[in-house]
Amino acid sequence: SENELFCVGCGAQLQSQDSKLAGFVPASRLQQTQETDLYCQRCFRLRHYNEVAEVPLDNAAFQDLLTSIGHQDALVVYVMDIFNFSGSVIANLRKFIQHNPVLVVGNKIDLIPSSYHVNKLQNWLQNQVKQIGLKPVATQLVSAKKLAGIDELMTKIENLRHGLDVYVVGSTNVGKSTLINAILQANSDLKDLITTSNYPGTTLNEIRIPLAGGGDLVDTPGIIHAGQIANLLTPQELKYVAPQTQLHPRIFQLNAQQTLFLAGLGRLDFVEGEAGSFVAYVDNHLYIHRTKLSNADQFYAAHRSDLLTPPQKQTDFPDLVAHDITTTVKSDIVFSGLGWVTVPKQVRLKAYLPAGIKLDVRPALI
Ligand code: GDP
Repeated sequence: SENELFCVGCGAQLQSQDSKLAGFVPASRLQQTQETDLYCQRCFRLRHYNEVAEVPLDNAAFQDLLTSIGHQDALVVYVMDIFNFSGSVIANLRKFIQHNPVLVVGNKIDLIPSSYHVNKLQNWLQNQVKQIGLKPVATQLVSAKKLAGIDELMTKIENLRHGLDVYVVGSTNVGKSTLINAILQANSDLKDLITTSNYPGTTLNEIRIPLAGGGDLVDTPGIIHAGQIANLLTPQELKYVAPQTQLHPRIFQLNAQQTLFLAGLGRLDFVEGEAGSFVAYVDNHLYIHRTKLSNADQFYAAHRSDLLTPPQKQTDFPDLVAHDITTTVKSDIVFSGLGWVTVPKQVRLKAYLPAGIKLDVRPALI
């Protein structure tokens, strides 16, 4: 019956009642087919047309699944986006997974300019992880997209899992699906498995992929992180917040009383301090506008639906809210999900983000 069918792409239970919900397949297709490898319409479109459909995920189910990990012995692979670290944090992960060892994967290293040393990035990741109170058994930097670090990751997983199941967890947009595909690609046996047979999910929407030597690799649904700018944008606008290629730093020599707009998604006022360089690490196609602080409000009002897009004209897009910042050292002002602007030491700033989106200030990464 329909109740027992799950999408092999995302693990959602297949249904034909509501095309806006996860797991939708037209009724005609569900009834006719003899196939066991069924994709929901969303995954089908994603695979064939590279189209992203907006489907709400169920956070309660995800938390149940996390809790169930705590009731068994397993290795937890925690995927984080180094470009959007705070947006990748799953609150209280340890409470859910209990005693189980965690391997932290820092994904999307390909975005970081190549002049930056991997060793430094490794230290930075370890520090960030320590600051959120997690003591991982190992960390590994990867690019799921450019297939960097995947073999090293697999070796670490093999050495740490002792034949047990491996749960891959992460927030949405950290690149978890891309990573699972990269792992499958790197291991042709697994690739054959996933393309030729059906992986029954459970009501918790997990996808199990058998590993050589016993145990499964378990893909879990991503948890939606409240406060992610991605949640506010349409699929067309999302490409600006999940950059696909190496970032080219954009350098602005600014005097006090100047303002930078990150399209209509963020704004940084340089209120007071010595002139210096402000370096933006955001998607290469995101429009950045420099203006006088005294003009900024007026400029925003006049151009928020043409020059300063995204967001496109959306009546429900939250207002930009100001945060006061004073730096002591050279710092990154992190517009969560969008990127960051590196600013000089000892300056006074005002950073504006859409209401509800988190602002972070950290010592400069680069
Ligand atoms: P999930 O929601 O965690 O499963 O994330 P996805 O695998 O769907 O990826 C989210 C976005 O990040 C997509 O736009 C991917 O193309 C992009 N992405 C995933 N991995 C990488 C990576 O290693 N580098 C870069 N630059 N982008 C990535």
